[in-house]
Amino acid sequence: MDTKPSSKSTVLIVDDSPENITVLGALLRQECTVRVATSGEKALQIVNSDHPPDLILLDVIMPGMDGYEVCNMIKANPATKNIPIIFITAKSGEDDEVKGFELGAVDYITKPFSPVVIKARVRTHLELKRYRDLLMNTSYFDGLTGIPNRRRFDEYFSSMWSFSVRESLPLSLIMIDIDNFKMYNDYYGHLEGDICLVKIAQALSGILKRKSDLFARYGGEEFVCLLPDTDHDGALKIARDFQETVLSLQIRHAESAIKRYVTISQGVASIVPDTEISQKSLIVNADEVLFKAKNSGRNEICDVIL
Ligand code: GH3
Ligand code: MG
Ligand code: MG
Repeated sequence: MDTKPSSKSTVLIVDDSPENITVLGALLRQECTVRVATSGEKALQIVNSDHPPDLILLDVIMPGMDGYEVCNMIKANPATKNIPIIFITAKSGEDDEVKGFELGAVDYITKPFSPVVIKARVRTHLELKRYRDLLMNTSYFDGLTGIPNRRRFDEYFSSMWSFSVRESLPLSLIMIDIDNFKMYNDYYGHLEGDICLVKIAQALSGILKRKSDLFARYGGEEFVCLLPDTDHDGALKIARDFQETVLSLQIRHAESAIKRYVTISQGVASIVPDTEISQKSLIVNADEVLFKAKNSGRNEICDVIL
């Protein structure tokens, strides 16, 4: 993959002085897309939008919110804390630099700045950001199906569990397992098996509408779906949609004892979690009802409310 900063990388310049913005903007526009904010408040709006920047050049002294406060808020938000921040300031005392780094900045540049230095540092940090994004993508997504992997699920499940406990919101989980998949592989070959997994993963992920829903590959021919703020009825509806969707794909399975096509079995478990109950219990219960679905003849949905 190309890791050079491209025009797609966006740098946000935050400075209360229009002259500084003009100078910095002119320097960086050749390398990347430039956005500007003349106050901390405006900067936070851009950072928290649907299109956050890849790097922020942040002035320290500004009226209203200063750069340190802005940095603090960006670093306190899990959704924005990985955006690298470079402080640009006339303050050149060692204490100021230390404070900037302690707040999580990646670099500190003092005014008056050299254009060559600014360009080089921006280029370096954009490149690092690209490597980090690439690493996140490969460590959180399944290589075969392209959907989130088990690691991503585990992390998301933990954070959503805590969130649901705090907010007293329902949380539902669906365990999904392809029926008689060993026979499918034995009969059609492993490559066809892989194609089948990709089709099912893509089709089922496509059903979910809410941004907070997660559909992941749990392992082998098993998938898991986490539905925050979704009660039991809602989760059952989605499980039925999953079942219908897999049937409608009509993937031939000559060896299946259930249908002529590939089917899935599902276990649905729902809970309004509290501190008395363990996170693990939701998975254990979903697994148990999935086992029941298998024993009831497969292509079935079994469920439990905790
Ligand atoms: P059941 O209906 O009880 O779930 O039976 P099953 O055959 O689906 O379950 P079993 O656990 O016995 O076998 C799962 C099979 O899934 C084993 C393996 O051949 C297949 N499998 C797991 N991961 C992959 C994969 O990445 N690619 C392919 N092609 N097959 C896989
Ligand atoms: Mg299995
Ligand atoms: Mg199976």
